[in-house]
This record gives sequence, C-alpha cells and structure tokens, in this order.
Amino acid sequence: MSLNSHGVKHIQEDGWSIASSEKYYGLNNWGKGCFKVDEEGYMKVHPLQDSRGIRIFDVIKEAKSKGYDLPLTIRIQDLLQTRVKELNETFRDAIKQEAYQGSYRGVFPIKVNQMREVLEEILEAGEPYNYGLECGSKPELMIALAYHRNLNSLIICNGYKDDTFIRLALHGNRIGKPVFLVVEQLSEIERIIRISKELEIQPKIGIRIKLSTVGEGKWARSSGEEAKFGLTSPEIVSATKSLEQAGSSDCLELIHFHIGSQVPNIQTIKRATVEATRYFCELASMGFPMKYLDVGGGLGVDYDGSMSNFESSMNYTLKEYARDVVYNIQTICNEASVICPDIITESGRSVVASHSLLVSEVCDRISKYSIQPIIEKNENAPIIENFISILENDYSASPLERYHDAVQKKEEADNLFNLGYLKLKDKGLADALFWKICQDLVLFYREEKIQPEEMDTLKAMMADQYVCNFSVFQSLIDHWACNQLFPVVPIHRLNEKPTVDTTLVDITCDSEGRIASFVDSEDERSLLRLHEIKETEPYFLGFFLVGAYQDIMGDLHNLFGRVNEVHVFLEDDEENGFYIEDSIPGFSVNEVLEFTQYDGQMLSRKMKKQIDIATKKDQIKPREGTRILDEYMQILKSQTYLSESD
Ligand SMILES: *Cc1c(COP(=O)(O)O)cnc(C)c1O
Repeated sequence: MSLNSHGVKHIQEDGWSIASSEKYYGLNNWGKGCFKVDEEGYMKVHPLQDSRGIRIFDVIKEAKSKGYDLPLTIRIQDLLQTRVKELNETFRDAIKQEAYQGSYRGVFPIKVNQMREVLEEILEAGEPYNYGLECGSKPELMIALAYHRNLNSLIICNGYKDDTFIRLALHGNRIGKPVFLVVEQLSEIERIIRISKELEIQPKIGIRIKLSTVGEGKWARSSGEEAKFGLTSPEIVSATKSLEQAGSSDCLELIHFHIGSQVPNIQTIKRATVEATRYFCELASMGFPMKYLDVGGGLGVDYDGSMSNFESSMNYTLKEYARDVVYNIQTICNEASVICPDIITESGRSVVASHSLLVSEVCDRISKYSIQPIIEKNENAPIIENFISILENDYSASPLERYHDAVQKKEEADNLFNLGYLKLKDKGLADALFWKICQDLVLFYREEKIQPEEMDTLKAMMADQYVCNFSVFQSLIDHWACNQLFPVVPIHRLNEKPTVDTTLVDITCDSEGRIASFVDSEDERSLLRLHEIKETEPYFLGFFLVGAYQDIMGDLHNLFGRVNEVHVFLEDDEENGFYIEDSIPGFSVNEVLEFTQYDGQMLSRKMKKQIDIATKKDQIKPREGTRILDEYMQILKSQTYLSESD
C-alpha cells in the first residue's frame, strides 16, 4: 500500500484500506490522535500528537535484539509528559476562562502506577505546574517524601493511617513540605492532634467527606453512605469540635472527596462537586482557614472510544470536566460569599493509562475447522448418512432449517456414543460434519444485516481461539476481575483485511484466562476479527491503555509473573526515530519460585538425588543424567512465558 500523488490512500481490490483498519479497531476513537496506522500497515504511537511517531513493530525488533522477548510491556515515556501537560494546561485554561480566583494544584496518586521511571517522568513534566503527589500508604509516602523536591507542590496523604504514618508525614512538614493528612476516620483526628503536640509540629489537616452523592460505574462504592472512607456530617461536626478544643483550628485547610475511579457520567461529578463545595463553604464560615478543595480522582478514560455513559467509557472530555469542576465550585462559593479555594484533583487513570501497552504473540490457533470431514461413499452408520444429507442439502432446506436439523442429529449422535452404539471413528466424523454445517451457516450470515437470534451463540461457538503468550491475570487483571475492556489491535498487517473471527485465550491453565469481549464504538463485541496467522512470520497483538492499575495489581497466577519491559523515548532527528532507555527483565522461573518459598538450589539438589538413583539403577547413563540436570538448572534462569524456540 502506498500514497498516490494526491496523498490519498490506495484501496485494495477487496475494498479494504488502512482507513478500514483504523475504523474497525477504533483507533480514531480511543486513540485520541496518539495511535495511528502508517502507509505500510504498521501501528504507530505519536506521543506528542504530531507527525513524529514510533513504530511498535520496530520497538519489538530492537527489544528482541537486546534479549527481551515477548510478552513485552512497552512504556512510551513521552506520552506521560503529554498527559501531565494536558491535564494542567486544561485546568489553567478553565480557570482563566471562568476568571476563577484560586489556582489548580493537581497531585498524582502513586497507587495508579508506582513504577519509579513513571513517577520520575510525571514529576519532571509537572514541575512547571507545581504538580504534586498523593499517597495512600506508608511505602507510598516514603516514595513521595524522597521524590518531592518542589516545595510549592503538595503531598496529600489519604488512606488509613497509624501513628508511624502520621509521624512520617509530620517530619515532612518539619522540613518544609506541604504535606496534608486527610482524615479518613474520626479516630485519626485525636491521634494527629496528640502526635503533633508531642513532636511540636504544626500539622496540615484535611477531612475526607462521605458524600451522599453516589458514584456510577464499576468503582462506585468509593462514595455514598456505605463507603468505607470519609466522615459523615455528624462526624465532621465532632472533628471540628475536637480541633477547636485542642486549639488546632488553624490546621484545617482542606476538604477532600473521591467518588470512585472511572466515573462514566459527568452529572455525577457535578453533583459531587456541588455537595463538597457546600461543606467547604460551611467550614469556611465557621472560621476554619479553608484553602483547598480536593475533588479526588475519577476522571475517566474512554477505553472503547464511544464517548458514552458506558462503564468502559466516559460521556465528557477533560475540558468539560475541568470547566465543570471550576464553574461549580465558583458558583457555590460566590453564593456563600466565601473565597474560592485552590483546586486539587487526584486523577491517576487519566494520566497514565495510555502510556503503556503490552505486546504478545499469537502462538497457536484452536479451531473447529482444522479437521475437515472425510466422507467415504461406502457403508456409513445411519446417523452419518443423516448428517451427509443435511450437509449436501438434498432436501432444499434453508440454512437455518438445516442448522436446526443438525442440532437434533448432534444430540442423537452424542446419545448413541454414550450408550456405546457409535464408534469413536464415527463420533469424530459426526462432529466434524456438524461443525461443517455450522460453518456454512456462519458464512451465510456473516455479512447479513439481520441475524437470527441463535447466530450469537453459534458464532461464539464456531469462532477460532487465538492463543496468546501472556497471562490475563498478570497483565489485564481488570478484564478478568470486572470485565473492564481494553482495546486489542494487531500492530502490523493493518493494510490487510482481517478475515478470522476470534476470541483470545492466554496460556494460563485457567479457563477464565480469556478475552471474549472487545471494545466497539457502538456496543461491546464478543468477537474480534483478526488476520490469518502465517507459518512463516509471527503475529503480534497489542493490548492498549494498560498503564493504569494493571501493572501492580497483576498476580502470580500459574507462576508466570511480570513480563519483560522496555521504556521508549522519541528520537527527534530521525524519521521513525526512538531509543530504548531502560529495559527490565520479567521474572525468571527461579524468581517466581522464590515467591512461594521454594529455592532453586534446593529443587536442583532434590532433582540430582533422583537422577543419581536412576543412574545407579542403570535406567540412564551418567552422561544423560548430567544433561538432564544441566537443563533443569538452565530453566531456572529462563523466562516463565513461552519462549520462541518452543
Ligand atoms: C484511587 C484513588 C485515586 C485515583 O483515581 P483515578 O480514578 O485513577 O483518577 C484518587 N484519589 C483517591 C483517594 C484514590 O483512592
């Protein structure tokens, strides 16, 4: 495929073009200008949303040459810069547009991606905006304190806190950092007061409000009256009394709420902002020196590109979000004649989701079509003759009628086999004939607009399964845990028409390790159309927008563990230029074994003993025994995922 002199993309004979691929895989919807296909059908990342792009295929080649095989996490570091800038600039614009009196003081919630290189990139990009950090545990606060340099940026501490946590935060205050302790439960207020008096350090206190506005979406339980975090209105009143009695009223400057992650509906955000601002104004009028309103996270990612109020989507843009937050706070504060606060957001998902992708290779295909029925014209069992008659349609039935007949005969055949009246050979032929009839039906209805109801299940049953060298539990945990959708796209051959309807399965021995729902701009798809795999070249699939939460929540199911990883930067002065700055090996077999208390050396010793016994008994020659042991020990150092030579 190439561009003609007018820059118009050629369309192939079968009517397929690169634009068709971009449309089918939804690149223009969820890709937001960062993911495109080049003239040769390769997927490219444009981290700065301009003409400079990185071919993912080239990154894989280079990673492999450095010894980093698939599956591979690729982090596009420049994309983090883009997102941090976008968030901060958008809030600045909204503030300017609304002539808002306060400023924007965003913080990045570390829990969404704790990776050091990710955090460093975010802090660097955020430096000019005084972009800060949010932490929810002691280890995260340890990171935040050490990495926080800009004294004008905030550190917000959420989550349950013990005395050590509180002391650590206060030490931060002592060395000049604006660290806020956000009170999540009433008992924390007494402890903060006590410990700060002991240490003689003035704390900065915030209160998390348990809003009555309930979120929507998969993570709605973060707010509403059943939420596990935050203070109810009577508790807030009680907390203010405690502060007054302790003479610490001047420490309360902030209120915070968080209605849950991936909020699909902007109305929820507006309602919550209004409710929280009312609390802010009340506390201000009670005489507390209120300065900050923290609206938490929840800013969505449009995973399916549908711009809808669907769980894997969002019905608003970043611009609308920023404007609504600013506008609603301003309106309520003006009504109450309270000075507008500085606005904090704790958007995590929206900042980091797009920067990382996982590439896996399709290593096998499970197909019902792989063995075609071979019909012999001699004596067949009557049931076989029935199937042949349906297949050849010697009774002029419609495709659907033939399918119904075939289903009936299939039941009969299964019964005959179970009762011992059908030989395995005939059972094999009967099943193959049945699938062939189903295949005819699927092909018949493939491009039809109106489909009989049975087609959904039938298509799913007949779809090929592409086996991918990765673990859903490690790399796409939210897909398994809450059916969160992620875009899946081949990263090459996008100038070819995809022809195979597939679902995807991983290499864990768990039937839940599969993907059978895919993004679509209208609805959800149960099948993904991909290319035929060729014997002569590998077929690579990219799983996109996986930079938020997936990295750290992935688990060791089946002892696969972390995948190899490379960090990629744009190289300015070259067409398709990039360089790999960092590469991190995934877990070796030995490492995952250690997580479960095994020890590679100990296992090797146990193996050696048994090999020695087999040698003594003359079951194997000593030389062969040594070879077996060598290979066993070699595998300890190798990667857990399938490696290429297999
Ligand atoms: C998880 C969390 C966030 C991040 O939410 P996103 O939806 O990823 O932006 C922010 N604040 C708090 C308190 C959280 O628990």
